[in-house]
Formats: sequence, C-alpha cells, structure tokens
Amino acid sequence: MKAIQIIEEGRVLVIEREIPQIKKDEVLVKVKYVGFAALTSILFLGRNPMVKLPVTPGHEIGGIIELVGTSVPHHYKMGMACTVNPYTNCGKCASCRNGRVNACEINETMGVQRDGAMAEYIAIPYNKLLTDGNISVRDFALVESMSVGFHAVSRAEVTDLDYVMVIGCGMIGVGAIVRAGLRGAKVIAVDIDDKKLVLAKKLGASFTINSKTHDLHEEILKITGGFGTDVVIEAVGSPLTYVAAINEVAFSGRVVYIGYAKNEVSFQTKLFVQKELDIRGSRNALHSDFKAVMEYMKRQLCPIDELISAIYPPEKAQEALENWSANPGDVFRILIEF
Ligand SMILES: [Zn+2]
Repeated sequence: MKAIQIIEEGRVLVIEREIPQIKKDEVLVKVKYVGFAALTSILFLGRNPMVKLPVTPGHEIGGIIELVGTSVPHHYKMGMACTVNPYTNCGKCASCRNGRVNACEINETMGVQRDGAMAEYIAIPYNKLLTDGNISVRDFALVESMSVGFHAVSRAEVTDLDYVMVIGCGMIGVGAIVRAGLRGAKVIAVDIDDKKLVLAKKLGASFTINSKTHDLHEEILKITGGFGTDVVIEAVGSPLTYVAAINEVAFSGRVVYIGYAKNEVSFQTKLFVQKELDIRGSRNALHSDFKAVMEYMKRQLCPIDELISAIYPPEKAQEALENWSANPGDVFRILIEF
C-alpha cells in the first residue's frame, strides 16, 4: 500500500509499505481523506525538535471500516464511514487518573510522536473509532481539528451570558467560535485576515475585529460596554496574543490558551490578581468533544466546503505542503485523498 513519509526537513515521499495486520480488538480502516494539521507543516519545516524524522504524518482522518477484529463489538461494521481519536493515554499519570486523558503526560498523537494516518490502511483499536451514518467520509476528516476548539470552550465553561473573544480564526479557532455560538454566547472573532473573519461570521461570530487594521482594545471596549470580554480563547500561540488575552479579558474573567508560544512571554502579573482571573490551558480533545462536533455537523449548518482549501492526491503531498508553507494565511484545511 501507499504511505506518505516526511523523510527530512522539507522533503516528502510516497513509499510502499505492508498493509497492517489487525489484532483482535482492532479495526482496519481504509483511509480516504487525511487533513494536514498545522503540526504537519511544522514537521515539514523541521521545526519540531520533539519529533524524529522520518514520520508518516496525519491524524485528521476520514475513512471506511474495511475489516473488524474478532473481539470488536458488532455495531462496528464493514463499510461504515468513521474517524479516529488519534491520541493515546497511559492510564497512570495524574491527568489519566483524573479522567482528563486528553492531557496525558506521555500522550502520543498519531503523526507526531508515532506514525500517523497518511497511508491507504491503518489498524486502530475499536475504542478510538467514531462512526455515524449521517456524516460523509470527507467531512469526518475535519472532526478532530474542530474538536480541539470545542474542548477549549468546554474548558472556559462558556454560557449564554458571556462575551467570548476568540483570537485566531484557523481551524482550531473556528471550532471555538462554533461551539461558543452553539452555547448562546456572543462571539467576537479576531484575526489579521479579512477572509477568515468573513467565514467566522458565517460560523456564528456576532462581531469580528481585524487586529491589524483596528485597535483591538478600543473595539473590545466598544462592543462590551467598557467591560472587556468575559472569556478569551487564545488560538494563535504568539507572545503578543498571549498578553492581549490578559489585557482584554474583563475583571473576574476566564482565559483559555490553546496556542503553543515558542518564546518566553512576559506578563503584568498584577492583572492576574487584580482581575482575579481563571487562566487555563486546553490540550487536544476528549471523545465527548468529537461527538459534539459530529452532532453539529449533522445539523448541516456548517459551510464545510469553505473550510477545505484544496484536495491533493498523495503524489502531490510535497507540492501541497510547499504551497501551505508559502501562504499559511490563505489555507484552512488541505486534504490528501487516497
Ligand atoms: Zn497518562
């Protein structure tokens, strides 16, 4: 079978590999679509020191069940469309013991710390599968990335009383905008790209701010009647946006960080205390977040076609990653179709 491998910085190859054998509790998934995550482009550019190349990328999966192991429950059947929860959890660390398996200390995400899904077939434990007859195999490839934003809204305990500012309108931010809207909050989407802001409105944002052309602080005060937002969800990971979150959140507000900032960030820590802030991290997603995204997709409110920037065959993975690395602002999701 074909598989994609990032063999070294800036170089992707299609290789031949054996179709994996499944164990009793596993399912063989015929992969149809896999998304390129932001992490994939970081791997491609050789900027993730935690990962040893070569690696097969990919953890945003839309596939079809091809074979089921002998001890897999009967409701998983051949021919079903599915996606995969791509995280592992050890069961022993503090997070796992507290039921917060998404934040397992030694999590290995497919396509990052271990080989991923950019191959014609993958073997997956059945308890990592999610199926639904009303979601297309293509749309399943967007569930994981959106679920990360969904999880952040859950971490922020967003309600219908809140003004929620989401900084960064890529796929993860989009997930946060959608779920905050579903919970009845008034959502303010912030980005430096007008095209992304237009889409954010379609996905449920009540207000949008281009922070490159407008003064973020002034605009937030105008919208919130001078208070600042009850919740800020940061989905960029730059020192600037890390600090803006603390500055723009209201007194007694909540800040949730999803983005990884590569550099150290300096804060006016007195604001943590004066505002009595709740500051939380949000990592990956829980099975329940995947299910919430699937419920949303079934309502057919999501302009999914607009979230898919391009679809390439495996042989053009190199070109796809080069295009994305050159124009990161223009791309929501690129899918590889097997
Ligand atoms: Zn663990």
